Amino acid sequence: MAPARRCGGLEMARVVYVNGQYQPWDYARVHAEDRGFQFGDAVYEVCEVRNGHLIDETRHMDRLERSLGELGIPLPMSRGAWKRVMRETIRRNRVTDGMVYLQVSRGARPRDFIFSDAIDMMPTVVCLSRPVNRAKRDAAAQGIAVKSMPDIRWGRCDIKTVMLLASSLAKEAAKAEGGKEAWLVDEKGFVTEGASSNAWIIDKDGRLVTRPTNNEILRGVTRTTLIDLLKKEGLELVERAFTIEEAKKAREAFVTSAGAIVTPVIKIDETPVGNGAPGITASRLRELFHTVAECAAK
Ligand code: PMP
Repeated sequence: MAPARRCGGLEMARVVYVNGQYQPWDYARVHAEDRGFQFGDAVYEVCEVRNGHLIDETRHMDRLERSLGELGIPLPMSRGAWKRVMRETIRRNRVTDGMVYLQVSRGARPRDFIFSDAIDMMPTVVCLSRPVNRAKRDAAAQGIAVKSMPDIRWGRCDIKTVMLLASSLAKEAAKAEGGKEAWLVDEKGFVTEGASSNAWIIDKDGRLVTRPTNNEILRGVTRTTLIDLLKKEGLELVERAFTIEEAKKAREAFVTSAGAIVTPVIKIDETPVGNGAPGITASRLRELFHTVAECAAK
């Protein structure tokens, strides 16, 4: 078993599943002419691992299948096979609390924009798992600052593709100004979502506001599960777009994702949200989230 190593503050995966084989991290390779590498022609999922259990596995697998379907990439394996691969990857990486990452590309072939004539192409499948950085996760509960910037991504943000350059640059720009997340703003001035999370505010009347899902945002699994929790808690949900100006004046703001769970937003650009401390409702939803999320058998 390879020892745990760190890179940029992250504990690294030890073993990576690539196309049917578990490889030590240093040797985990895909082909140089993989379409994921050349065209961003690949989709992915990130699922939380908590106490060794996969959280909301069914919804993540549903979304993975939808993403593949939207791009016409064949399903590389059955749900049963995915389950086994994810659990074996978690086990080999000795992860109790962390995440599992799945990626499926259309496969490798001589570079060509057209792919429909390559009938024998096999999807490339990667699965890795690594522990959460506990210090980062605990710090997130204390709230994060977000920075607003233009949403320059493509028109199918509902598909979870690996074309994450715009999102990566947005997060780098946010980081350079002391933010942990970027809130992306459309041409009309409305927040679409975070670079890697869904964006929420709580208005003066205690209603939870988040943008409705369409091709402009990703339907977050955490967003969907949180909506289940809101119903249970009797909290009112309004699915509509909001501006940065409205968010700055909101009672509370927060983001959701498999990694962030529910993370309070305490500052937007230079403006503190509410009294500049994590909101009561966001903090409570963070605590309650796992009482409604699916917790799959190990
Ligand atoms: N929007 C974007 C753009 C994301 O990248 C993510 C996280 N992958 C989310 C929303 C949140 O999705 P989930 O709750 O399924 O992690």
